[in-house]
Amino acid sequence: MIIAVDGPAASGKGTIARALARHYQLPHLDTGMLYRAVGLSVARAGGDPDNEADALAACGFDDALLTDPELRSEAIGALASRVSIHAAVRNALVKRQRDFAGQTGGAVLDGRDIGTVIAPDADVKLFVTASPEMRAQRRMRELQDHGLAADLDALVADIRARDARDTNRAVAPLKQAQGAVLLDTSDLSIEAAVRQAILLVDAQVEGQRTN
Ligand code: C5P
Repeated sequence: MIIAVDGPAASGKGTIARALARHYQLPHLDTGMLYRAVGLSVARAGGDPDNEADALAACGFDDALLTDPELRSEAIGALASRVSIHAAVRNALVKRQRDFAGQTGGAVLDGRDIGTVIAPDADVKLFVTASPEMRAQRRMRELQDHGLAADLDALVADIRARDARDTNRAVAPLKQAQGAVLLDTSDLSIEAAVRQAILLVDAQVEGQRTN
């Protein structure tokens, strides 16, 4: 079974995808980490993230980079969103993601274009969202939990800017895929969101079985 989980930054899609992978005992790939690795790699090489050739050159990053704690920072998230605009970068990362999705037994992948581009034939598709204010508050708590200072207004502005870039780009923009079920986590606790996601997956699987 392939489960595609898409949605904007800090919507809860990563937590939900990880929980689904545990529940259905499937391997999980957070595809945002690949774009983050390209962003970090281009920055470390002194390249320009807005330049397609520089960003493409960074796609050959060493896999050890995927465990670098810096990948999770807001700054690298913003760089990832800039490098992910380039078609050459997206093409360079497609095979790795499709191979992961196509492994025997299936997989859970989360990102922005899993249900639309990477695995359009996924058995189950979820589109996880939440209001920008709620997402910013969650990010702020996360940063504070890590002892980092955070400004709510700045986080809301960052999230809106990232949404605009991800939604309006020409190649593989963020959007709800055909057949994807919407899960709005604005008013849900993590536990409730995960419970709801499992119910939605089971319902989609059941719907396909009886069709
Ligand atoms: O999900 P995460 O916030 O880690 O993703 C970082 C950035 O990588 C996103 O803002 C988006 O621009 C890009 N991305 C993408 N396609 C994916 C996953 C992430 O364009 N499948």
